[in-house]
Amino acid sequence: MKIFKFGGASVNSVERIQRLAEILRGTAGSAENVLVVISAMGKTTNALEKVVEAFYAGHRDEALRLFEQVKQSHLTTAKYLLVKNYLDAEAHLRDHFTEVEWLLHDKPVREFDYYYDQVVCIGELLSTCIISAYLAEMGIGNQWIDVRDIFRTDNNFRDAAIDWAYTAEQTRRQVLPLFDTDNMVITQGFIGATAENESTTLGREGSDYSAAVFANLLDAESQTIWKDVEGVMNADPKLFPDARVISELSYDEVIEMAYYGAQVIHPKTIKPLQNKGIPLYVKCFLDSSLPGTVIFSKSVKGLPPIIVLKRDQALVYLHSKDFSFVGEELTGKLYHLFSEIRIKPNLMQSGAVTIQVCLDDRAEKIEKLALSAAEYFDVQIEKGLTLLTIRHYQEEILRKMTEGRQMLLRQQGPETVQVLMR
Ligand code: ASP
Ligand code: MG
Repeated sequence: MKIFKFGGASVNSVERIQRLAEILRGTAGSAENVLVVISAMGKTTNALEKVVEAFYAGHRDEALRLFEQVKQSHLTTAKYLLVKNYLDAEAHLRDHFTEVEWLLHDKPVREFDYYYDQVVCIGELLSTCIISAYLAEMGIGNQWIDVRDIFRTDNNFRDAAIDWAYTAEQTRRQVLPLFDTDNMVITQGFIGATAENESTTLGREGSDYSAAVFANLLDAESQTIWKDVEGVMNADPKLFPDARVISELSYDEVIEMAYYGAQVIHPKTIKPLQNKGIPLYVKCFLDSSLPGTVIFSKSVKGLPPIIVLKRDQALVYLHSKDFSFVGEELTGKLYHLFSEIRIKPNLMQSGAVTIQVCLDDRAEKIEKLALSAAEYFDVQIEKGLTLLTIRHYQEEILRKMTEGRQMLLRQQGPETVQVLMR
């Protein structure tokens, strides 16, 4: 069993979907079983986010208009790709459209994140529905499954956690038998459902993780993530023209890179693979003859500096109210707030009476944190900052990258340096 994952960029046009079919045709002929996890097409997730935002702001007509655009673009893609299977696929797409439109006609009464998941999850359902029908039309036999029937999660909307025991059971009962009919199963990344059958999402870019969950549960021989780049690179090639492909990486290195915000692989992806010793290949979608990157348990020496830039950072500056020291008690309270609000500090530094916390700027959460922390601290917030992380750094490169910027925080260990810049 192999697990393949294709991201949004690999399915964002008719030509790309045809290319995907070419890659899959290579495996369809073999006796090997492949489970294929696919993301929403191109920028669909972003477009759906706009739909929910409009809905939640009370602009129902705007939400419906934006949703109409998503519908039309999927119908158009389906029309281009499908002949024989068009009508069936259209009916299937319309079922999913209706799911969302029902909800958009209501007034929001629950929290934003709940609606987010109910609407945004549709992107993956639409893309896989079209692709499955197209593959079938191309003679590539496959079975489509709604992963919400398999992936059971908690109700922490937008960052839901998998119930492994239940999911394992459903994978065994519902997914494995599909391979008796075809050696290919097509399903969605990024989404799941609660015990109450409410849709959930696993966090942006979560499809890599979905694929890894399946890899783990199906004891796959490998997982392959097909990407637009030639492999994992030591920096974002859009920002750094001399970024280069790293051919081998350890699980540890990748988990660190992802943790610091490298847009390579979703941070949660590695653990399920590492736990079963399953290698992860990152391969070039446009040229599958390129070697790409393999990620495994072997430690790799002589890595180049790995550079990660995280934008949209907020610095929350906390000063204890009455000049009491921020010892374990106040720090403990703060950590309690983090877990309550479910936010993760990217960088933290404390002094005698101050704590500075750098976080992703998710406005609603930052506001909640500031409000709750105000009970013990005077709170100040600065936004629009950038967090630079360099692994295997040299002073020279750090100097170059921070030139002309104001440093607000700096943390440094033997392997990694982090700087928060204005
Ligand atoms: N479609 C989702 C996103 O854009 C999940 C993914 O692509 O992995 O975040
Ligand atoms: Mg994506």
